[in-house]
Amino acid sequence: MNPSTGVQSTLTRGPLDDAKAQLAQAVDLLGVSDGVHAMLATPRREMAVAVPLRRDDGSIAVYEGFRVQHNFSRGPAKGGLRFSTAVDLDEVRALAMWMTWKCALVDVPYGGAKGGVALEPREHSTAELERVTRRYTAEILPIIGPEVDIPAPDMGTDEQTMAWIMDTYSVSRGHTVPGVVTGKPISLGGSLGRASATSRGVAHVALMAMKSRGIDPTTATAAVQGFGKVGRGAARFLAEAGVRVQAVSDVDGAIWLEEGIDIARLGEHSDATGSVAGFDSCEPIEPGSLLTLPVDVLVPAAVEGVLTEHNAPQVQASIVVEGANGPTTQAADAILADRGILVVPDILANAGGVIVSYFEWVQSNQAYQWRESEVNDRLAERMTNAWHAVVEQAGARGITYREAATALAVSRVIEAHELRGLYP
Ligand code: NAD
Repeated sequence: MNPSTGVQSTLTRGPLDDAKAQLAQAVDLLGVSDGVHAMLATPRREMAVAVPLRRDDGSIAVYEGFRVQHNFSRGPAKGGLRFSTAVDLDEVRALAMWMTWKCALVDVPYGGAKGGVALEPREHSTAELERVTRRYTAEILPIIGPEVDIPAPDMGTDEQTMAWIMDTYSVSRGHTVPGVVTGKPISLGGSLGRASATSRGVAHVALMAMKSRGIDPTTATAAVQGFGKVGRGAARFLAEAGVRVQAVSDVDGAIWLEEGIDIARLGEHSDATGSVAGFDSCEPIEPGSLLTLPVDVLVPAAVEGVLTEHNAPQVQASIVVEGANGPTTQAADAILADRGILVVPDILANAGGVIVSYFEWVQSNQAYQWRESEVNDRLAERMTNAWHAVVEQAGARGITYREAATALAVSRVIEAHELRGLYP
């Protein structure tokens, strides 16, 4: 365990092993041929680039960058761009595969992709982040575009990053192309409701999961790992629904308060200090212990691989809602399922982001803006439909929600592949 982050790593396995194992389970359930399985396990296109950066002091640093396009059967590839020192090709491959399943599960007309640059954004000035984003964009330019592959924000990137990508791409094309990214600022054609879409969706499925387990939100408790774009909003929406959010963490620390944390004020504290640590009357806790607190709902919304075979036996929540991608290892998943803990899988729980990204892409391509209420209503409708499809599939087959969600998604991708046929 890394004591500063509370993250436990399983040295022998990583997210790509987990993603492939989940695919193998779905393939077994669906009775897919070895050839189609091999196609689904293999990214369609990968690009690894060097990203040289002239730093503010005049020195040059070089970072590794990647873009992986896992599948195009259902449409252009879609997926976030991550800035983190943990980025490597296998992580990006796993995240790209999960994007394919996520898009298929919530029935948006995309395949899956993901990108990353292996750097720590907090160690760079805004000017350096702009230069590194523009250079990375220039390197991957031949393989992105509104009909090819559409990046969006992920860990360590935000709407400003998307604005720089859009501008770099547009300059190269000689005209403005808003549909090349989603999650961009509203004034550049971003969608109302996009910034909060992922966390709104997380809270939405968390409430449906609570209802299915007979848990009243107004007497329920929750712990949220991560206080970024996903975790912060998830905590806020849960608190607004009456849930007592007793613990929150970020990369710098974790805090706990029996009666529930004031999330709006915590947001102000985090904006002012850069961390949740040291907030008000909250007690500091060991970050790893947040995952095993006696709460009703646990929302891991930071990084992958935090719930492992080492801490899964101690998880006390009855519902785990995966705000992050891949927070539960395969081994932990089996333990949680055996213990009767309901895990709402990432490809369902955090799909709100890509749903509203799809809405944004539609709006950008039509140069027309929808009302926020329209966006939120359509988001809720798609999340609810996906939830019921997964619940029904899980019940019919007697499998976990993750197995059901993955099998449903994989079957939709296979259907598109079979209808299109294999070229030549
Ligand atoms: P972010 O960069 O906005 O926030 C990440 C948060 O996690 C920060 O608060 C950071 O301090 C914290 N964190 C990092 N490492 C941690 C650790 N070891 N322990 C505790 N906290 C830690 O990123 P984000 O966009 O909120 O993404 C979080 C997760 O959600 C990622 O897995 C991402 O792929 C996934 N996701 C994001 C979106 C989106 O729309 N942004 C959509 C779907 C899934």
